[in-house]
Amino acid sequence: MSAALHRLVYYSRNHVGRSDADLDREISDILAKSQENNRRDGITGALLFNTGCFAQVLEGPLSAVEAAFERIQQDERHGDVSLLALDRIEARSFPNWAMGFVGASERDAGRYGAIGASSGFDPAHLTGDEVHGLLRDLAIEEENAA
Ligand code: FAD
Repeated sequence: MSAALHRLVYYSRNHVGRSDADLDREISDILAKSQENNRRDGITGALLFNTGCFAQVLEGPLSAVEAAFERIQQDERHGDVSLLALDRIEARSFPNWAMGFVGASERDAGRYGAIGASSGFDPAHLTGDEVHGLLRDLAIEEENAA
């Protein structure tokens, strides 16, 4: 089992939630299970949800990150799962977050407006570094606001 830290970044298309209530419930379920599993597996990271898309950063030992990504790819709550980056890293960007959520609040939308303007809020048009930087900035902002 490789203990070297790695970061994986992907995006996917949302398949759940016809109503806001459905979506809220599904996202709460996904986060609860993710946080439980990730604490067990030494994974940290952040999940961004924006209308039709998820973007997620997973960081931890390579074998744990790969195993989580295998499960995530088979999850029918989303589809078209596309890997943007898998890199070795020296330090975690989300050391305190078993899986943080940066959602589609007005404040968050304002924060990623600059990237949204060029991508149409579509992570398919972003690089792994851009998605990672965006989630890291939002995480720092959340921690400062807490
Ligand atoms: P169980 O929770 O026992 O689930 C068994 C099976 O049922 C799995 O195949 C699961 O995908 C499926 N399942 C469970 N609930 C539902 C449901 N409500 N609708 C449809 N299928 C369902 N997991 C992590 O461990 N870490 C993460 O960071 C993580 N991030 C995720 C991000 C997104 C956007 C999504 C959609 C899922 C994420 N998951 C994450 C969940 C992951 O896809 C698996 O569902 C989970 O890891 C399985 O956990 P388990 O082995 O304990 O199985």
